[in-house]
Amino acid sequence: MNYVSTRDNSSKATAAQAIAQGISAEGGLFVPDTFPNLKKEDFDKLIPLDYKGRAKYVLKYFLNDFTDEEIDYCIEGAYTGSFDNEQPAPVSRIGENINILELWHGPTCAFKDLALQLLPYLLTTSAKKTADGKKTVILVATSGDTGKAALEGFCDVPDTEIMVFYPSDGVSPMQKLQMDSQKGENVHVCAIKGNFDDAQTGVKKIFTDNAVKAELLKHNMQFSSANSINWGRLAPQIVYYVSVYCDLLANGTDLTNGFNVTVPTGNFGNILAAYYAKKMGVPINKLICASNANNVLTDFIKTGKYDRNRAFHTTISPSMDILISSNLERMLYELYDCDDKTVAALQDSLSKTGVFEVSGAVKEKINSLFWGGCCDDKATLATISGMEKQYGYLCDTHTAVAVNVYGQYVKATGDNRPAVIASTASPYKFADSVLTAVSDKKTDSEFGNVELLSQLTGTEIPKPIAALKNAEVRFKDIVGKDGMLSAVFNALKIK
Ligand SMILES: *Cc1c(COP(=O)(O)O)cnc(C)c1O
Repeated sequence: MNYVSTRDNSSKATAAQAIAQGISAEGGLFVPDTFPNLKKEDFDKLIPLDYKGRAKYVLKYFLNDFTDEEIDYCIEGAYTGSFDNEQPAPVSRIGENINILELWHGPTCAFKDLALQLLPYLLTTSAKKTADGKKTVILVATSGDTGKAALEGFCDVPDTEIMVFYPSDGVSPMQKLQMDSQKGENVHVCAIKGNFDDAQTGVKKIFTDNAVKAELLKHNMQFSSANSINWGRLAPQIVYYVSVYCDLLANGTDLTNGFNVTVPTGNFGNILAAYYAKKMGVPINKLICASNANNVLTDFIKTGKYDRNRAFHTTISPSMDILISSNLERMLYELYDCDDKTVAALQDSLSKTGVFEVSGAVKEKINSLFWGGCCDDKATLATISGMEKQYGYLCDTHTAVAVNVYGQYVKATGDNRPAVIASTASPYKFADSVLTAVSDKKTDSEFGNVELLSQLTGTEIPKPIAALKNAEVRFKDIVGKDGMLSAVFNALKIK
């Protein structure tokens, strides 16, 4: 097994090269050229294992040039002591056949922790193999959750520097505080005037600028990415879809006809991981792609035309406020049977005109695999309230979008097989909106709302959020889109 670029699959890379580099030289994304095929014997072996054991079993295949000792070191380091009750991905059953896969029990209370607790280990191990002593500089564009999860993961990791850009008006107050108060000697945080797409485009531009790369090399540094364009972010996400299948098998769920998975989607990384799990043998029936008012993916799944030329909406589910879903590129590579030329042409069209359209045959494939739906903020709030009233289950704004769209799917299709809904953040990360949904009371401070939410619902405030109450703000810079590069150089003390 090797890694190839979605835009040029003629040259091959190892896992360490793909992870250390983050993005391929010509701007494509690294993908494995083959996938393992998990059979009943594999699942029989996986079921009795804990999450770490399952992760080792699955990731061994993708980390093709890592030794067993290195894989053990990475996974033990990432998943020991950092998640509530040593359970990175527990399942809560709601009603008869809805299973909420809770992916927010890590240090930053969002699903990004599942990958970003592991990525620093993968990256530093990869860099040792490939980068002969160079310092790795991690650049991150975030719509809120990736930034904090990456900062937490890379905090004081030797031989790394990390710089996070977030849209100044596009993240929740809690997300902003989480990032601006980050501790560590090697961490840098900067707000930009613009939205997430501006941040992501700016970071991609810096990454692929040869003059900038040369300047870094002079200082014995090289860039990598902690965004889900890095394969080291995606591989760990496949694990929890394999793991939830094992959990459902173990608890006797009837999976004769497989199960459906609903994912609240932004950059298409999480749902792509579910697709890969399906490809590897996890019996997922439909992949239900849930969007908020930024419903570019809903339209794409419906029409085969991807069109980012539309108004950008700032919503109460900010981590999904995205019009350019980077990882769709990897999905296109699958849908076009590894045709790198076509993928390159579609991406070129996207960057030049903001639009691309897939062939009729590919559209059919999309519709056999995916179902897409969206809902606005009002429906999101109503869903949070409904979940709390009907099931006594408190969910965050992103998860609520998924629950709402799953409901739309069942109504439209009558498909009642067991369902897994990816729950991507703790409700306490978005306490203001969640409180609006479940009560008519409000305080005038973020932490007042956090405490009120806990009192009213009888749920516990996650420790990492409670600890922010008296945190000191360290980062206050805001730059324009054109100021991103100098912000990076300043942080690295170059020039
Ligand atoms: C990042 C994020 C998403 C979107 O996930 P993608 O992998 O980018 O599609 C959804 N919900 C939350 C809470 C997130 O942090």
